[in-house]
Amino acid sequence: MENKKELRTWLDDMKLDHPLVIAGPCSAETEEQVLKIAHQLKDTDVNYFRAGIWKPRTRPGNFEGVGALGLKWLQKVKAETGMKTCTEVANAYHVKLALEHDIDLLWIGARSTVSPFIMQEIADALCGTDKIVLVKNPVNPDLALWLGGIERLYEAGVKNLGAIHRGFSTYEKSKYRNIPEWQLAIEFQNRFPDLPLINDPSHITGRRDMIFDVSQTALDLNFDGLMIETHTYPDNAWSDAAQQVTPATLVQIMKDLQIRKESHPEAAYNNELNKLRSQIDLVDNQIIDLLAKRMKVADDIGVLKKQKNVAVLQRKRWKEILEKMIVEGKSKGLSEEFILSMFKAIHQESINHQGKILKS
Ligand code: PEP
Ligand code: MN
Repeated sequence: MENKKELRTWLDDMKLDHPLVIAGPCSAETEEQVLKIAHQLKDTDVNYFRAGIWKPRTRPGNFEGVGALGLKWLQKVKAETGMKTCTEVANAYHVKLALEHDIDLLWIGARSTVSPFIMQEIADALCGTDKIVLVKNPVNPDLALWLGGIERLYEAGVKNLGAIHRGFSTYEKSKYRNIPEWQLAIEFQNRFPDLPLINDPSHITGRRDMIFDVSQTALDLNFDGLMIETHTYPDNAWSDAAQQVTPATLVQIMKDLQIRKESHPEAAYNNELNKLRSQIDLVDNQIIDLLAKRMKVADDIGVLKKQKNVAVLQRKRWKEILEKMIVEGKSKGLSEEFILSMFKAIHQESINHQGKILKS
């Protein structure tokens, strides 16, 4: 999958001068609602009109989508507005119907990517199609599952591929509905550098007031596009009401977003960048040296604890360190979220070190 420029031909062929934009409601609710939103998005930079018709809901009893009937509404969208259309497919039957109704782009939802059985079933049903297929990351932060889903499609002969980053569910308290774990998306880009990667700020944030910020972060990280849920009356939406924006807001968001270039040829810029990068490299080396030093001290504590037969984990001490470091970090402009995850990792490494010593 590396060095496969063919994977992004579909996107390059569009010759866009802005990131790819997919917009439309979370769910198709009525024919009137779908057509109204589509007409409002028609003369904007939106490239694909989205609407979910089979809705995977966490608990039964919620609105589960209008089903196959919605495909006819999407056909009408195309006929009336000329917009290309897309919807989510979750099994071979959905794929068959979507292909029969000439939906232009299909995406696979986060709850499907988690299941290799479902992914294989969908891949077999799509075998050899030239439709564009985008794979959302799985609900859980498992890069291999995400990559594996894409590989199954590729091996089934689906070559117009892409991925959607929609965040990951977590038990931890967070301001996001699904935490972005940006480092995972970056690792994804490293593994499949030519695969178009689209960001879905709607499902990451769960809140319309955070959509702009997350979209800008995605563009700063060289994402190829955005999928943003859009509804004429967001508060009345039958699903995901809190995260949908109006077509007018979407247009404003797209206007305000800064589109970054991947690089710039100017020599002075590149000199300055290289100078700053050598500073970063230097600091990174110092960080590694300091961490090694800290682990050496942890080892010495491990030896002491072993002599007195004391447990590795000292909850009270750990709590005190964390509280102190959060305050310290804040005073230096470092977020609590960052301090917590960094110190959790450092603490885990110390525990591993001391554990080894106690067992020796
Ligand atoms: C959606 O796009 O409406 C959807 C259900 O998304 P996800 O699979 O990311 O939850
Ligand atoms: Mn949704």
